[in-house]
Amino acid sequence: MVASNTHPTEKTMHTENNFESLRDGVRSVVSQFDSRYWQEIDEARAFPEKFVQALTSAGWLSALIPEEYGGSNLSLVEASVIMEEINRAGGNSGACHGQMYVMGCVVRHGSQAQKEALLPKIASGELRMQSMAVTEPTTGSDTTQLKTFAERKGDRYIVNGQKVWTSRLQHSDYMLLLARTTPLAEVKKKSEGLSVFLVDLREAVGKSITVRPIRNMVNHETNEIFIDNLEIPVENRIGEEGKGLKYILDGLNAERILIAAECIGDGYWFVDKAKDYANQRVVFDRPIAKNQGIQFPIARAFVNVEAASLMRYEAARLFDAQQPCGAQANMSKLLAADASWEAANVCLQTHGGFGFAAEYDIERKFRETRLYQVAPISTNLILSYVGEHVLGMPKSY
Ligand SMILES: Cc1cc2nc3c(=O)[nH]c(=O)nc-3n(C[C@H](O)[C@H](O)[C@H](O)COP(=O)(O)OP(=O)(O)OC[C@H]3O[C@@H](n4cnc5c(N)ncnc54)[C@H](O)[C@@H]3O)c2cc1C
Repeated sequence: MVASNTHPTEKTMHTENNFESLRDGVRSVVSQFDSRYWQEIDEARAFPEKFVQALTSAGWLSALIPEEYGGSNLSLVEASVIMEEINRAGGNSGACHGQMYVMGCVVRHGSQAQKEALLPKIASGELRMQSMAVTEPTTGSDTTQLKTFAERKGDRYIVNGQKVWTSRLQHSDYMLLLARTTPLAEVKKKSEGLSVFLVDLREAVGKSITVRPIRNMVNHETNEIFIDNLEIPVENRIGEEGKGLKYILDGLNAERILIAAECIGDGYWFVDKAKDYANQRVVFDRPIAKNQGIQFPIARAFVNVEAASLMRYEAARLFDAQQPCGAQANMSKLLAADASWEAANVCLQTHGGFGFAAEYDIERKFRETRLYQVAPISTNLILSYVGEHVLGMPKSY
């Protein structure tokens, strides 16, 4: 494990040269995977197995697992720097971020037996648990309406239903599943009556879980799944029955902050690429960077990435201090996703026609960063959260 366990102080947190040893360690792993690696993986629509394996072996993906279970127990600030650096160095943390945060539900709400059985193996890479099945085709963002049902029968649950966009399932041993355990009509609040389960995919796939991969705009391993009489032992339920949505929501602030960090990494990558190209590309006898029409959009994109980064640090600092951080986590995700998308557009425009050529990596990153306007939460739903919970306006849905 190359990561430092030293927690940053507030005083040093926002300085530019922060976390250099952390950044160097991540970069030294990611730099083993060059442009050609990513282009070949993208073209073959393959999973970047060697890349995920290398990050796992170096210990970067177990940053948030407590030391007693073999992790390095880093702060969320540090974990966000890891994610940022992966994307900033040209990698795609979308292939591996699940391995860093899906297990958070077990850390926070799992039984002692679940923690002991899973966390050390996740930390060592022996087990992968990087898949989370929440979204359903007919209910989308309206999670409380989900229809997958887990019926208790003695010491097991029998689950039937359907999920969509279940990512990294084919590269996971365990999946977290959110299902209804009490019919909607019988609960006082619609957020109640949902439960969260650990599903052993090694036993279920091909039997009670049918997987249909979804070919998508990004090289993102994601699937539609059909669940048919899946048996889950009661001891695989996480926490209390009926409180599953609360447990999932508990993990969302960390997820939002880590995704924000990935966008920030992308944003810096795009700005660097755009700046370097603008400085060296000569058209009309001068570098195109001399034109304000080229230089200013790059400068503006940089300003926005920097601002998003500060909000990310603030959200992560509050999270680490166990303070409420829902507003900051959501705002950092929104700002970072917007900043990286703006930087992507600017970078592509700066490169002119070459921006479209796969060998420059820009079109790949452009597609990858676009995802974060939609997933894991869409921009509109964040604005709705801010409107309602921060500004006190009526619920808009
Ligand atoms: C590549 C990829 C990977 C994913 N991985 C996972 C995963 O691993 N696990 C998982 O559970 N899910 C995953 N998702 C699903 C993702 O979280 C959802 O796509 C996202 O939450 C939006 O839900 P939806 O697609 O059903 O859109 P909908 O809910 O149908 O919304 C469609 C559009 O309408 C807008 N909208 C809806 N309601 C309102 C409203 N009241 N006000 C304003 N606008 C509104 C939304 O913002 C969105 O832009 C993934 C998605 C993608 C594309």
